[in-house]
Amino acid sequence: MSSVHTNPSSLHALLKEIWGHSQFRGQQEQIVQTITNGGDALVLMPTGAGKSVCYQLPAIARHRAGLGVTLVVSPLIALMHDQTQALQELGIACGFLNSSLSAEQTQQIEHEARSGQLVLLYAAPERITTPRFLNLLESLNARGKLSLFAIDEAHCVSQWGHDFRPEYVALNILHERFAKVPRVALTATADAITRADIVQRLQLEDAHQFISSFDRPNIRYSIVDKTDARKQLLRFLKEEHLGDAGIVYCLSRKKADETALWLSSTGLTALPYHAGLDAQTRRAHQDRFLQEDGLIMCATIAFGMGIDKPDVRFVAHLDLPSNIESYYQETGRAGRDGAPAHAWMTYGLGDVVQRRRMIDENQASEEFKRIQIQKLDALLGLAESATCRRVILLGYFGQASQACGNCDNCLQPPRTWDATEAAQKALSAIYRTGQHFGASHVIDVLIGNASDKVKQFGHNKLSTFGVGKALNPIVWRSVLRQLLARGALGIGDYQSLHLAGDARQILKGEMPVHLRVIEKNTSKNKTRIHRTFAEKNGQKRPETASKKDSSFSSLTPEAAKRLDALKVWRSETARAHAVPAYVIFHDKVLIELAEQMPDSMEELAEISGIGVHKLQAYGKDILIVLRRT
Ligand code: ZN
Repeated sequence: MSSVHTNPSSLHALLKEIWGHSQFRGQQEQIVQTITNGGDALVLMPTGAGKSVCYQLPAIARHRAGLGVTLVVSPLIALMHDQTQALQELGIACGFLNSSLSAEQTQQIEHEARSGQLVLLYAAPERITTPRFLNLLESLNARGKLSLFAIDEAHCVSQWGHDFRPEYVALNILHERFAKVPRVALTATADAITRADIVQRLQLEDAHQFISSFDRPNIRYSIVDKTDARKQLLRFLKEEHLGDAGIVYCLSRKKADETALWLSSTGLTALPYHAGLDAQTRRAHQDRFLQEDGLIMCATIAFGMGIDKPDVRFVAHLDLPSNIESYYQETGRAGRDGAPAHAWMTYGLGDVVQRRRMIDENQASEEFKRIQIQKLDALLGLAESATCRRVILLGYFGQASQACGNCDNCLQPPRTWDATEAAQKALSAIYRTGQHFGASHVIDVLIGNASDKVKQFGHNKLSTFGVGKALNPIVWRSVLRQLLARGALGIGDYQSLHLAGDARQILKGEMPVHLRVIEKNTSKNKTRIHRTFAEKNGQKRPETASKKDSSFSSLTPEAAKRLDALKVWRSETARAHAVPAYVIFHDKVLIELAEQMPDSMEELAEISGIGVHKLQAYGKDILIVLRRT
């Protein structure tokens, strides 16, 4: 029988021994208990919440109980590589079988699996359904040495999931052939439809379901008004993330290339990544991102799948993603280690125009376009919101929550101004110029700039010419953007603006318009760009008490020095072992070491994230580094 009854304290002991943690996180404990005791489970857990432990700990417990090897199904070579490296650093016998191995290496791993040496064996789904592999499983099973099936990235089995892999469908063969072996399916991204599909296709109807919250509390969300994107990005990187690894998402390949070049010219380490680069360059850039500390990847959305780097400290968007799901997925690559991370985006009028146009120019059906527009509107709602970003984000996935205290709007509530008159002027200028012109032309008319084009069309003779002199073009762009985002404006051919939605009610004065004050964001304080407007209108600037930065750790200068020294040691060690730095220790562990300054092996063992194997392997070195600095 494949059940092993463990008491909770032995699972805790194992967590401490292997991973160096004294407590389970979230639902981990119930999950680990269920699987260790031979129950089936479906685990939905956001990235960074400790999903791997949910099957790795039961695998170790069951192996020690004499039940043999756990088979882990994984869709990507990079992921298998990552997971096995990390386990080996923890002193766990494991291996993988995929196309990157030679015939001899394959035989060696098969031998280790057959002999019962391996605790975990990773393999791709297409490998698992081959006769040779099934034979291996048969022979293990016949001897009672096939302990557990863990199906990672289980959403790949669903055609509704975003990464459908036909080979995953064939995995039901595992249950048909080896009905007694317990199974756990794990995923980070599956809505209700995808979840039901996973259950049905993998025949997990009787499995315990563990659904965790979508929230990633360690990620701070900020969306800033785009004034000068490059300057804003550079300030964000230099003031808040100097020396950190992160991703800068761009819409086009060209922009990814240019951004990487430009960041490099400012002294930062940045590389491009997109589908236009040859496979070898892509691989080389990805490897450097994984292995080096503090590299910035300027990438299109081609970058990300299979990137399991836990210490990505920020994800920056220079362009608007297509919808909230993409935004959530892309920003979710930050902070997988649970330490503070930042999702930051600049957002402006041009982004709205560009995204709307991309949908319009799509050759798809009207129905498809309608859904795309709905999805984009939900994202615009998030970007324009004056209330907690996280509440809106989680609400989109059907999860209710409270104001988070860790997003820009919570930390520094945005101010709004009565923009009714400005909105009327803008709508009127658009109406009087015939609804045939784009934002720049409309703004020229509003501020009274008699450009050649304005004169050519005689728009300098209009009554609306110059009525908006009191506001500068940046403010006018934000007025137009916010009118667009709320649907009072539409976009036609050649990016021309026309009245839509409740525009007429606004013009007639039947609907007041309150808009966000455009702030020039700096991390420390906010500089107002259009002071003149509020002053002219007699509006007082409310005192916004800037809340204390609570979640980003603020190290003392001495601790920061120790952290730097520890990072240098980690880089050297990682190079010597030919593994990425985070496989040696996560940032979180180094930060705790720098703050706590343990001075003996006993004190070191108390640090969360240092298990028995790593204590023996690295303890003495760490003490030397700490004593030296
Ligand atoms: Zn919030």
